[in-house]
Amino acid sequence: MNVLSSSLNSTELLKTLWPEVSQKLIHEFGETIFKSWIKPLDIQKLDGKCLHLTAPTRFVKDWVLANYGERLLHHWKAFLPEIETLAIKVQLVRAEDSILGGQEKFSAVEESFDEQREDMGAALDSRFTFENFVVGKPNEFAYAAALRVAESESPLFNPLFLYGGVGLGKTHLMHAIAWHIKKVHPQRKVIYLSAEKFMYQFIRALRYKDTVSFKEQFRTVDVLMIDDVQFIGGKETTQEEFFHTFNALVDNNRQVIMSADKSPSDLEKMEERLKSRLAWGLVADIHPTTYELRLGVLQAKAEAMKVKVPKEVMEFLAFKISSNIRELEGALNRIVAHVTLVGRNITLDTTQDVLRDLLRSNDRRLSVEDIQKRVCEFYSVKMSDLLSSRRLQNIVRPRQVAMYLSKILTSKSLPEIGRKFGGRDHTTVLHAVKKIQETCAKDGEFASDVDILRRSLEN
Ligand code: ADP
Ligand code: MG
Repeated sequence: MNVLSSSLNSTELLKTLWPEVSQKLIHEFGETIFKSWIKPLDIQKLDGKCLHLTAPTRFVKDWVLANYGERLLHHWKAFLPEIETLAIKVQLVRAEDSILGGQEKFSAVEESFDEQREDMGAALDSRFTFENFVVGKPNEFAYAAALRVAESESPLFNPLFLYGGVGLGKTHLMHAIAWHIKKVHPQRKVIYLSAEKFMYQFIRALRYKDTVSFKEQFRTVDVLMIDDVQFIGGKETTQEEFFHTFNALVDNNRQVIMSADKSPSDLEKMEERLKSRLAWGLVADIHPTTYELRLGVLQAKAEAMKVKVPKEVMEFLAFKISSNIRELEGALNRIVAHVTLVGRNITLDTTQDVLRDLLRSNDRRLSVEDIQKRVCEFYSVKMSDLLSSRRLQNIVRPRQVAMYLSKILTSKSLPEIGRKFGGRDHTTVLHAVKKIQETCAKDGEFASDVDILRRSLEN
């Protein structure tokens, strides 16, 4: 591939490579994601080591950089190794012109703040402020703790340790603290970085025998924030350095804020003394989202993007996409991007259509075990009986119901389901499915029991 490089600086040739890179991206992300996000991009030019692209809207640009930037770069590099960064510019295309005017599109450059992938790690996201953070039961404690730390002149809780599952707002809260301090006390030195980047810089300093300035850099800060500290689990030398940096800062009355996906005591492969030191200050967890919080987030985001989203679409999304806020936000962005690009209104139909893959993966979280448990509760049978080969009628029926529900509510195959029922054959499962369908057709009361069970599992 390399031989092509020298002549490939012209846009024409870049464009001929684009379909090939696209194939790789389709393969990696699937047709739907490709169509919604990557296809709308346009290749501009190769300027030295930087490949310039344009996106139709600000949020397509942001979304691509945040989610697919690295892979996009990776696949381009496979064809053109000299590419080191991607820059995406927003190029507005007026919808009516592109519809009426055929090829003669009127376009105007909206903003031209190029973003270099390399610097993104430690940069603060301008949207991650306290004002933009929607507070609800699951995150009110973490929010209050973060706000207190941001507002206090000297460390109140040191360290502040935020933890919770992915996409629940840990990074958002950390950035919000940083923005707040920058605004109120611009002279204070605030450093925010991921634990990975900390580790990377430390290892680099070791390699270049430059650990003195590495240490200096961190020990002169007023507020140090390290995101996702679970990443240094198992990295002994980094942990050691981290521990020293951390102690030095706390001893000098500087604020340290950290986040992780687990509580300090649950962090794996982390040294005991580091764990206990991490738990010294205030530990605040962010719980999984509730329906109310998800709905609140959707309303806030739609308002911020200045788009009208019908109530039933919001409710549908809040109900269906329960995994985390990042995914919820992603779903909304996708719908908005889609309707903007095709110039239609947002409806429940388009939503279901555009998000088919996402909705399916959210459904998939129901396991055969969950179903078995619920069925046992419902019919008051023991799990051991349900999984046994006993043929008593009051056990056989619930067992068949559980098999049937496993078939219709999960994506498991018949043999897989059979295995989860004490190693039964797939024909037994098939028989159960047919039997339940037949019985439901004949017996209304039974059918309504099965329906209640099904709905209780779908929530
Ligand atoms: P984490 O660091 O916990 O994995 P992030 O802080 O990156 O999660 O949040 C993921 C996305 O969800 C971000 O875009 C963030 O702005 C958004 N988000 C998370 N929680 C909230 C919230 N309470 N209100 C508004 N947006 C939120
Ligand atoms: Mg994060």
